[in-house]
Amino acid sequence: AKEEGKGTYVMYGEEMQRHFDERMIVEHHLRNAIANNELSLHYQPLVDIGSGDIWGFEALLRWNSPVLGFVSPLSFITIAEDCRLIVPIGEWVLRNACRFTKELHAQGYEGYRISVNISVIQLMLDDFTEMVLTILRETGLAPEYLELEITESIFMESFEAISSKLESLKQKGIGIALDDFGTGYSSLSYLKQLPITTLKIDKSFIDSIDAPNNMSLASSIVTIGHDMGLNVTAEGVETQDQLAFLERTNCDKIQGYFISRPIPEKEVVAWVAARTA
Ligand code: C2E
Ligand code: CA
Ligand code: CA
Ligand code: CA
Repeated sequence: AKEEGKGTYVMYGEEMQRHFDERMIVEHHLRNAIANNELSLHYQPLVDIGSGDIWGFEALLRWNSPVLGFVSPLSFITIAEDCRLIVPIGEWVLRNACRFTKELHAQGYEGYRISVNISVIQLMLDDFTEMVLTILRETGLAPEYLELEITESIFMESFEAISSKLESLKQKGIGIALDDFGTGYSSLSYLKQLPITTLKIDKSFIDSIDAPNNMSLASSIVTIGHDMGLNVTAEGVETQDQLAFLERTNCDKIQGYFISRPIPEKEVVAWVAARTA
């Protein structure tokens, strides 16, 4: 940047500084978010496309800061990863999601599963497997009701170590979903080595179902997933047309605004009761 002349350099520097300040502010407020009860979970239903039955929910983190207001997870999770706050936050998410699912079962809504997003930073920890099993024990949730969502970013990290942890969790009956599938860099040969049970087709492929000259990548992904013995979920389903298309491809599950937006914890039971009435 220096060679581009002083003006360019200064502009660049100012922007960097502002970006850095924003991150510092977010990090500062996030540091006390758990203790101050500012975090909560919303739950978005996943539905079995054939039967229309509720398969379970994906837990999605929400942060309402008294100073910053609602901050999107898309912005604060990256920051939490960089400063490693994602470790205690991720553990908080898992514990609360498992506790809530166990409560649903106790209220007669048996069989619902919970899918929880896991950051690659968490997966790199030596005691990750132990942490997950401890939370299952403490909350009393059986492993077959838990699914972990990972992304292709794990391919950039210690692949061997991470896949052996995932493999041992899978052996216990925990589901492993590869999230945002199709947006990353994984080759199909890598995919075969990963101990996963589910592919989640990224929303961008679902959006393009409606586009003219759609190349139907979504249906190719369903076919590939099924050939590999995996379940396939479509995320970000917003329209009846998308649903109809996905039904024809034999996709297994759908998730998206067409079914429901993510629901605050306190409203989940009412939503389920209304849908299953
Ligand atoms: P994701 O895992 O891909 O989650 C799906 C995102 O798409 C969610 O955004 C959800 O609200 C949104 N969404 C679902 N259906 C639709 C739809 O039909 N249309 C549209 N336009 N959007 C839809 P959200 O809740 O803002 O979360 C954003 C991302 O933040 C998540 O993407 C995930 O990567 C991350 N995230 C959220 N909670 C956690 C968490 O507890 N831990 C970690 N590590 N990451 C999380
Ligand atoms: Ca996810
Ligand atoms: Ca996703
Ligand atoms: Ca996505």
